[in-house]
Amino acid sequence: MGPTPPTTITTVADHDVAMVLFTDEDAGYERWLTDHPDGFVINTERNPTRRYLRLHRAACRMISGTPTNGRAWTINYTTACGDEAELQRWARSLGGEASPCSFCVDLPRPVAGRAAHRDGS
Ligand SMILES: [Zn+2]
Repeated sequence: MGPTPPTTITTVADHDVAMVLFTDEDAGYERWLTDHPDGFVINTERNPTRRYLRLHRAACRMISGTPTNGRAWTINYTTACGDEAELQRWARSLGGEASPCSFCVDLPRPVAGRAAHRDGS
């Protein structure tokens, strides 16, 4: 953990996988992906909008590795990271619905993913 958490990271809930928003914070985002390989991510506009809510698995290659849309993931975009139910709830709170990325659908589902996060690491 760094000494000063960036103000753009917002923890929304603290059960199971806490949902976190990243804006202009690629390092934090990539660290989250590494820490939560079974997690989920919603990609949205910088100011989250129901018009664009793309749900990805953390393992999706569309949202990790080398950015396809430039040099950064969270510049001009916000990524919401958490578990699937939490992110869907968040999407609905914006008046929308997260639409799953078509690439993610083909990824195998982790069987014990939720239980693995119970220790809060
Ligand atoms: Zn995806």
